[in-house]
Formats: sequence, structure tokens, C-alpha cells
Amino acid sequence: MGKSITPKQIKANNRQLIYDFIYQNRKVSQQDISYALRLSRPTVASNLVELEADGLIYKNGQQNTELIGRKAVGYSIVSDYRLAIGVEVRRSRLKMIAVDLYGEPIDFEEKSLGYERTVDYCRRVCEEIMGFISRHGIRHEQVLGIGFAMQGLISTDGTTVVYGAILNNTGLRVDSFSKYLPFPCTFIHDPEGAALTEIWHSPEITSALYISLSQHLGGAVIADGMIRAGKHGHNATFEHIRVRMGSNARKCYCGRYGCLETVCSMNALLGDEPPEAFFENVRAGDAEAVGRWHEYLDVLGRMASNLHLVMDVDIILGGHLAQFLTEQDVRYMYNVIKEATPFDEAEDFIYLSRMPRHNIAIGSALTYIRAFLADTEQNEAPSRIL
Ligand SMILES: [Zn+2]
Repeated sequence: MGKSITPKQIKANNRQLIYDFIYQNRKVSQQDISYALRLSRPTVASNLVELEADGLIYKNGQQNTELIGRKAVGYSIVSDYRLAIGVEVRRSRLKMIAVDLYGEPIDFEEKSLGYERTVDYCRRVCEEIMGFISRHGIRHEQVLGIGFAMQGLISTDGTTVVYGAILNNTGLRVDSFSKYLPFPCTFIHDPEGAALTEIWHSPEITSALYISLSQHLGGAVIADGMIRAGKHGHNATFEHIRVRMGSNARKCYCGRYGCLETVCSMNALLGDEPPEAFFENVRAGDAEAVGRWHEYLDVLGRMASNLHLVMDVDIILGGHLAQFLTEQDVRYMYNVIKEATPFDEAEDFIYLSRMPRHNIAIGSALTYIRAFLADTEQNEAPSRIL
């Protein structure tokens, strides 16, 4: 016997379709919805009443509509009906950000707090998070979850740091934090958080390699609009590909010598030097700075070429350094790639990220926002049974 859809499922489906349509179009009238979704006016009207009663949408003034030739009531979603919180755990500080259903950061705080592998540290982080929630008037039922961006590779289920040589946090479990918090919690590898923000803002990116050029080198594989974790949770860890041998190989934090991290990270390029000062010199034509920069771009170009041989997809250059890169630098890289690859490559696959600041913390929160928007059940009001 074939499965047939029940009236309850149809009703739930209509509700989701209507909610999604309002979400996508920001402000729409009842007539717009009815016309676009081919749903009867009474069906749309009753769903709008329910969605508004549940606090998911609100009447947002008047809306021009060509369909009826006069103004009609406009409906928008309540963008803070649910929120998610991104927490970026760094060696010496903690960033907390609340993100609404449109992925917009609405509250932000940064605290000076040195990372320690202790129970006290975890408790302190959670006190800061609860303080943040309370100071910004966020109600607990609004919070979908908390995404912790960690420096370290994360198990595919988001519960454990499986490799954390930078912070020495290997084996740290998310329940070290979640036991003090009344919300779902998950870990996310920090460059994956940045990549998630990238695909949120550029949904046309379905397949790409994201390279994070920050203090440390990192990356993520984007496939079908998702981040791919890989079989063992170490996808895109090209930072440990060894490119230097012998006496000019520097030691990597992983304990080996000559990894890309030791050549291509911001640390390797600048050490403690502020990037602003370095790039001022580069752009002013200072021979030493330009020489060092071109040497860096040579390695970056060859790395991009190698990665592009493995995966013929777009390459997004992100991380702290990306804001200083210019189209001229990208052209320089294409010239390096031309030398390195046997293929006649079109110059159309390297992009510079222009994401907002705090994109790692934002991306960590977006995991919960994406899940909420994708799940019919979740955007029903908790007390309501359809
Ligand atoms: Zn290494």
C-alpha cells in the first residue's frame, strides 16, 4: 500500500511554505503569498493568524501589491523569535555573539579570559555566557543553542576536540561546558565557522575550498552548500602538508617540520608585526616588504594550484589576512598557478572573502539557525500541536 499524505502533514507543510515565503521575501501581503504559493485565501489567512498568534510573524505596516491595486497589510517574520549564540574560544579572550534568524549579529561582547584546561575555566566561560544572555535581555526560550568555535579539529558529532595542538585541548568535550548551560551546545572547528558565514552570505557557493589565512592556517571543504567533515574529522587540514625539508624547515605546532602552517600562516609571514604596518610598506613599494610578500604569494599560489588539482572548485581566501589582499595579489597568484599547472586555467576561481568581522563566531551560531529554518517541527511554537 502506497503512503499517502495526511491532512495534518498538508497543514504543517502549508505553514512551513508560508513561513519560508515570508522569510525569503522579508515583507509580503496575504495576496502575494496566496498567488505565489497557489494556496487559497482562507488557507493563507488562517495560517497567518496562527503564525502571528505563535509569535513567528508580525504585521509590518502596509505593503504595495499590484494584485489588488491597493495597499495591503504586510507580514514579516519576527527575526528574533529564536536566536543562536556563537562563542569563540581563543587563547587569551572570549567572544560572544547573538545571531538572529537572518544571521545578523544583534549583540556582541568580547572578554579578556585566558584559556586553561580546567573545570574553573569552563565554569567561568559559562558564567560569562549566562551573563551575556541576561545583560542583553535574551529570554532562554529564544536560544536555539550555543556553537563553540574551537581552535582544534572536532569529532563529526560536534562533541569532542579530536586534535587540539594549538590550545592543548585535545579530548576536551562539549559537556565540560554544556553541563552548566540550559541549552544545546556543539563544538565547531574555527575555520569551518568562517566558511559557514561565507556560504550563508553567498548561497550561490555550492562547492568550494575555503582557506583561512589567519594567525594560523586553516580551511574547510564546502560541498553541496555544506561543510564536509570527512571520515575522521580532518578534512582540509592542508596546513600540515609538508612543503619544506632540511635546514630551512621550521617547526610546526604539530611537532613536525616544514608544514604549510610554518610558511603560509599569518604568524609565519608577520610574527608579531601588525598587518596594517606591513601592508602599508608593501603598497608603498618598500623593497623588503614587497619581496617578503611576493615570496608568501608564491607559496600561497602553489598551494592554491595543488589544491585546485585535487578539487576543481572555487577557492575562497578568507581569514584575517584576506581584508589586506587586493585583486593585484590575486592576479599575481594566477601567474604562479599558470607556471605550476599543466592546464590552461581560466582566471575565475579565486575569490577574496569580504565577510564581516567576527565571522567565526557568527558561523558557529549559524549551525543552529540553519537547522531551525530547515525543520518544520522546530518552528512550530513549542506549546502548539498542529
Ligand atoms: Zn604541522
